[in-house]
Amino acid sequence: MKSGSCHCGAVRFSVDGEIDKAIECNCSHCSRKGFLLWFVPRDALQVTAGDDRLTTYTFNRHAIQHRFCAVCGVQPFGLGSMPDGTSMAAINIRALDNVDLDAVPRVAVNGRDF
Ligand SMILES: [Zn+2]
Repeated sequence: MKSGSCHCGAVRFSVDGEIDKAIECNCSHCSRKGFLLWFVPRDALQVTAGDDRLTTYTFNRHAIQHRFCAVCGVQPFGLGSMPDGTSMAAINIRALDNVDLDAVPRVAVNGRDF
């Protein structure tokens, strides 16, 4: 299990599973926030502190809830659904504790042109 937080520590969370890869998307939103995203089933994510500090940003089709800390602005994860309706969470692995980012294979996704 991995644990993580926003920058100020108001929001803490844990994620079950092992990081197999990170999605690096070039869309206008992901590139600005510098995300490296790990997709997990929604049930694998538990917000352990500060759920009430999380604010939601949506854009485009408003299909994904981008959840960020209202205090420090860090976005630890986003919530959405797969095309088949399965609830998913996209974890910003930069907000996880003790992850060697250089050891995680990165998969480039061309979100800019969608
Ligand atoms: Zn914070």
